[in-house]
Amino acid sequence: MGNRIDLTGHRFGRLVVLERAEDHITKSGKNVKRWNCLCDCGNKTIVRHGNLRNGKTTSCGRLHKEKVGAINRTHGLSTKHGRLYPLWKSIKYRCYNKNAKSYKDYGGRGIKMCDISNSPVWEYNGEKLRVVEWAERLGVTPHCLLHRKELGWDIERILTTPLKGDNNGKAKL
Ligand SMILES: [Zn+2]
Repeated sequence: MGNRIDLTGHRFGRLVVLERAEDHITKSGKNVKRWNCLCDCGNKTIVRHGNLRNGKTTSCGRLHKEKVGAINRTHGLSTKHGRLYPLWKSIKYRCYNKNAKSYKDYGGRGIKMCDISNSPVWEYNGEKLRVVEWAERLGVTPHCLLHRKELGWDIERILTTPLKGDNNGKAKL
């Protein structure tokens, strides 16, 4: 008797029942009542009566995601991600480019200031390194080391004197 129930116009999750579909005939010859349903994503699907009634089927299923992604409908989290991901990707790409560009600018200036080929080689403690390499190792700018040199410091003092004020960013030496 339950099969008499008309589900037309009823909503089950994302599905709205449009009309009665052709029955499915089981192997044992039983008729299974089915409904043509319209999913919120615009996809049409045929769902068994029982699956609608017991809440087993609430959307057009697997095809759902593909369809939703293709037509960019707001349709749950997966859709949201589907739309946001490419956007996020392009933002990331732009940021990366921007960073790369500013890095290039920065790098350009840096090279001007302390071109590695002009960087003098200092020997200390048995090691011969260019000033830029010492600077890198010590975590200071080459400019800082060269400035110390200009002040007449010897190599050992230049390379071993800690940047006491560096933590608060005020030290020039
Ligand atoms: Zn759908």
